[in-house]
Amino acid sequence: VFVIHTPAALAWKPATHVYLAEQALEDAKDGKVTIERVDYQEGKVIGTIGEYPVDPDMLSAISRYTSQYKAGVLGPDAYPDIATGQQVIHPDTNSDGSDGWLKYLWRESRSGSPAVKAFAAGYLTHAAGDMYGHTFVNKFTEKAFTFTPPSNAIKHVLLESYIDKLVPRPEFNASIEGLKDFIYQKMIYASPGSDLDRKYLRAGGKGTEASIPRIYSTLRARLQQNIDSYYKRKSEYDRQYDEKIEAAKDCEPLDFSCSATALYAQAAAIQAERTAFIATVGAATTYQEYWRDDIDEGLRKWPETSHEIAKALFFNPEDKTNVSDAQEILEDYLNQHLLSMSGAPDVVGDFAGVVDKVQDALEEEIKPIKKLKENFYSFILEQATGMTLEELKKYLQNPALYFDEVMTQGEGERVNRETFHSKYWANTSKPNTSKDYEELVKKFEELHFLEKIPALYNTVVMSKLILLSPSSINQLLEDLKDSTRLKEQNVMLGFIRTLDGDNEWSGKGEKPHPEKMVLAQTCAAYRQIFMKQPGEKSEDGCSPSERFLLSFSTATQVIDKVVDDFERELAREETELQNLNTWIDQSLQMALSAEATKGTIDSLVEAYSTKMSGAEVRLCKSGRQSIAFFPKIRGTVASTQRMLAGYQPWKTLGRQHEQIISSLENLTNEAISTLDQEQTLTRIPKSCSALDTLPKVYSLRTQGIDISDTSKKLGDVTADFRNQIENLEKEVERNKQFVNNQRVIASIQADLAERILEGQTNEALELANSAPVRINRMIEEAKGQNIFGNDEISQLQD
Ligand SMILES: [Zn+2]
Repeated sequence: VFVIHTPAALAWKPATHVYLAEQALEDAKDGKVTIERVDYQEGKVIGTIGEYPVDPDMLSAISRYTSQYKAGVLGPDAYPDIATGQQVIHPDTNSDGSDGWLKYLWRESRSGSPAVKAFAAGYLTHAAGDMYGHTFVNKFTEKAFTFTPPSNAIKHVLLESYIDKLVPRPEFNASIEGLKDFIYQKMIYASPGSDLDRKYLRAGGKGTEASIPRIYSTLRARLQQNIDSYYKRKSEYDRQYDEKIEAAKDCEPLDFSCSATALYAQAAAIQAERTAFIATVGAATTYQEYWRDDIDEGLRKWPETSHEIAKALFFNPEDKTNVSDAQEILEDYLNQHLLSMSGAPDVVGDFAGVVDKVQDALEEEIKPIKKLKENFYSFILEQATGMTLEELKKYLQNPALYFDEVMTQGEGERVNRETFHSKYWANTSKPNTSKDYEELVKKFEELHFLEKIPALYNTVVMSKLILLSPSSINQLLEDLKDSTRLKEQNVMLGFIRTLDGDNEWSGKGEKPHPEKMVLAQTCAAYRQIFMKQPGEKSEDGCSPSERFLLSFSTATQVIDKVVDDFERELAREETELQNLNTWIDQSLQMALSAEATKGTIDSLVEAYSTKMSGAEVRLCKSGRQSIAFFPKIRGTVASTQRMLAGYQPWKTLGRQHEQIISSLENLTNEAISTLDQEQTLTRIPKSCSALDTLPKVYSLRTQGIDISDTSKKLGDVTADFRNQIENLEKEVERNKQFVNNQRVIASIQADLAERILEGQTNEALELANSAPVRINRMIEEAKGQNIFGNDEISQLQD
């Protein structure tokens, strides 16, 4: 219950956080991540910058310990606990702000196990999500999460919950196996003098009033101090006693300045004092030792408890805010640990007389505990959020119902659900039924909403970059023609003041600061890989020369893409050409067969009509010849039919291909009718003794089945093919020329960019002056060739 107030400012809700991290992970699985080139203004992916290898250590950690990585992605919403995360880690509470925490965890994880490394990478990924998520959400709330006005807090809760309902579900498999000790040592137990104690979770530090780790670390330190001073004083008595005894022993018999009796008496007095001291303070000390041990035990159980609470409140496959489960977990913790950690020892009986006295002496340290035990609800929940538990639950569970009422009022951009969808959620319409939600979530993946909602897109890009080594980040910077280099150990380190803030990558948020993310040092680099997102404050962030370079590299990329497309088209046309040639060969063969058949039949008919008996021999010969042709014809027909079946995809290309296919179909039909005639001719007996089959052949001819006509048609189709091939070859040539033109344009642009970057102003100017003339000439030629549409031409002119 103590921690329930804080689902308030989660930016992305935990499931959204994890879903986005899964996208980065998916890309990283094969050992490298793809960084795309975007049109910053339009929010579109337009190409690829490159593929960058994931740091090998990182890769093995996140692939083997994905669940621990995901626990990290829950980040300060869950560990060390939501209250500490919310009040100490998210806001700017130490001299280095949230960055201090990120650096600290990163540094401490370096000597840890792969599970710990995966967790730290996840924690940084949470920060990336908060950075872009809060920039988006704060636009509608005007400010970072705050309790005053209460409408700010409500808007945060509502919008973040609503977004969570539109995003696909991740796999809910976060785990802290192998992390508990790390979380306890580095995030919970602020041992005196440690970094955690001195800096990040400082006693009396901002936001620590509600931090269980801090409250009990402080109390433990005080108990340890008392325990230590007891043992110190006791050993001091021992030392003094021993001193007196030794001195007494050393007294020489005749040395009257040395009185053994007196020294023994003094020793006895010390001994008595010691006994009295032990009697009064010893029991209290033992009590405090038990108490201290109970705190240690309880704090060690805290990571697990926090993990269970996070799951109950916001990371379960049922998508429920299980407040009663969370309460139960806390009540168990209260009974099993918190009470004894608060001074009600597990071991009872001996301490009846000392408990009150010891607790009175620890008044300062116990004060926050008393408050905490007195009234969880009103102290933490209602006073802190301005909302009752019921209110909070309704906004978390049913954001759509209250959306229009809440989001069209108060500070920040006012937006109703309809406008939110059309303007900020990939131009969708608002869902109403649960089926609508299902549809929308399905569309999210099918229609690549990630590339259409810049705040989500940017989160994923940043999550990928977190997985890269500094040298890969520097390679990327080089590829973006940026001379900045990463000095930190990770791209997510060194700049973020607060996880609650907006525009933290550029330092232009609610609380401006000079530190920037390495890729945001120059706006030209940033705008090649991140999209402009709602809530971003960088309209005038680019200097004129940066803007020029940026539009330049975008144009170059567009040209590269056009060239790529043309090259693919060329390759396809060349394949078509080859196929067409094969076809023509086959057609010619068929035409030849048909010609030969025609000749044979003609001579048969001629022989019959002259009725010359001497021709009988010739007839038989011709008949056999003609029969020999038929298998060839049959073969040709079969292969033509195969071709027709095989070239079905061609039909989608339209234009002349349809004609070709229909010609071939006709041709096949004719060949088949030729084969029908074969049926007749094969009846010519091999001995040629019965010439009475000849009249049938003759009647075929008189019935109008004229093979010479088929042969003629074959010749026409062949000629037609030849023409088409010629045209196609010409077109391929023109396309090749066109592609070459684009290559030249691209290389002129690259030259120009190179010179500008290297500061060769005169050369750049000269080139810039001459380039348009050359480019325009090429474009005019392309227009003249009349191959491409106006859209393509105007794209190139741009
Ligand atoms: Zn967060």
